[in-house]
Amino acid sequence: KYDLISPLHPICDTDIAVSPKHHLQLVLLGDSGVGKSCIVLRFVRGQFDPTSKVTIGASFLSQTIALQDSTTVKFEIWDTAGQERYAALAPLYYRGAAVAVVVYDITSPESFAKAQYWVKELQKHGSPDIVMALVGNKADLDEKREVTTQDGIDCAEKNGMFFIETSAKTADNINQLFEEIAKRLPRPSAA
Ligand code: GDP
Repeated sequence: KYDLISPLHPICDTDIAVSPKHHLQLVLLGDSGVGKSCIVLRFVRGQFDPTSKVTIGASFLSQTIALQDSTTVKFEIWDTAGQERYAALAPLYYRGAAVAVVVYDITSPESFAKAQYWVKELQKHGSPDIVMALVGNKADLDEKREVTTQDGIDCAEKNGMFFIETSAKTADNINQLFEEIAKRLPRPSAA
């Protein structure tokens, strides 16, 4: 779906109100098909349009969210560009990332197992103060659910992560996901 020659692919650039000039790299990890691109599109463009995915790589997207304490954080959001299939290349993405969002599909136990693999990888190779979120996406497909909410909570607690279930399709909890991440970031220094 993307050109692997340039695997590091900033797909959008999002301002979250916190303090000026605070620039943070956010990576999304998870099995192919769990909805990573749709989550970003829903957040940045307010749309659910899986077909527009191929165009994201070329677009520079930005969005501002006002938080209570009126400072600004700039999120650079990176997709895996299909690299989830090439585990050996993955550390290129999360090395240096301030935030990692690990996504699985609540209808897919395989994707949940893969999410736990990514969490371990992040603990091994990621920055020690990385903020990690565990996201159970496709929450609108509750009738097909195969991973319980409690499984997600337990996994997140064990690994010191923030947990949320989202639906890129209905927009449920998408803004909350990014707001909660912003709240958990180390406060930028006053300088
Ligand atoms: P990625 O490979 O992780 O980036 O996954 P995509 O964002 O391309 O999504 C994969 C497929 O899952 C697409 O066909 C989407 O329509 C579908 N999808 C993504 N998010 C949701 C969701 O929240 N609910 C439902 N029902 N489908 C979703």
